[in-house]
Amino acid sequence: MKTTVRMDDITPDMDWEKFLEFKALLDKHRIRPLIGVVPDNRDENLNRGANKGKEREKIGDFWEYIRALQNEGWVIAMHGFRHVYTQKRGGMFPLNHFSEFAGLAYGQQLAMLEEGKAILESHGIKTDIFMAPAHSYDRNTLKALQKLGFTKMTDGFGSRPYVWKGMRFYPISFRLESSLKKKNGMTTIVIHTNTMGRKDMEKYGAIFEKNQMISYGDYLKEGAAKRSLPCQWAEYCMATAKHILVKMM
Ligand SMILES: [Zn+2]
Repeated sequence: MKTTVRMDDITPDMDWEKFLEFKALLDKHRIRPLIGVVPDNRDENLNRGANKGKEREKIGDFWEYIRALQNEGWVIAMHGFRHVYTQKRGGMFPLNHFSEFAGLAYGQQLAMLEEGKAILESHGIKTDIFMAPAHSYDRNTLKALQKLGFTKMTDGFGSRPYVWKGMRFYPISFRLESSLKKKNGMTTIVIHTNTMGRKDMEKYGAIFEKNQMISYGDYLKEGAAKRSLPCQWAEYCMATAKHILVKMM
């Protein structure tokens, strides 16, 4: 299985030490990932207090650094708007039962997404890929995204990209260990460096060593098939099951 990487929660005050350690691992394996940048982070949980450290100094201006990563071939997604969960809904892909967007009126979602996009563009970053905080979005989110020119989502389950409700979905892994055992198809490993420990770094190092890793840009080049309704129901059920399993652990 071809496997790629996405990194969530990229903000100016994230844990830069862990980010750079993971980046070194990606560089070693020549993997250029997708990164989800929050346009206007207001989620205190994502501020890891590491912004005053040496690593933060090395980075310099956050937006300049993000543009440099883009020049290296890293792909950027808009990761929500402020990353604040005001809604208690899981929406169409209910891995989590909270959301920044799902449940809000269309006009409200459109305004938030428009502002997020304008902030990224003011820093010279253009993207048509959306990474929903907590993986939660609803029909109105998809409609508003399309109105603003977004065409791709990094979400959903499956072994190859698919088209649903006018958007291209690039699936993430349902259960990483079993995904990696499959011979064919593609998947995305979801990484949150802020909360990674030593053991996680080692685990991913071993995964990168053993598997056929690809850059996210190559994943985007794969063709997408139209998704059928039964498949979409199956995905909804799998997301619900995963939500329950995670709660039980
Ligand atoms: Zn997030």
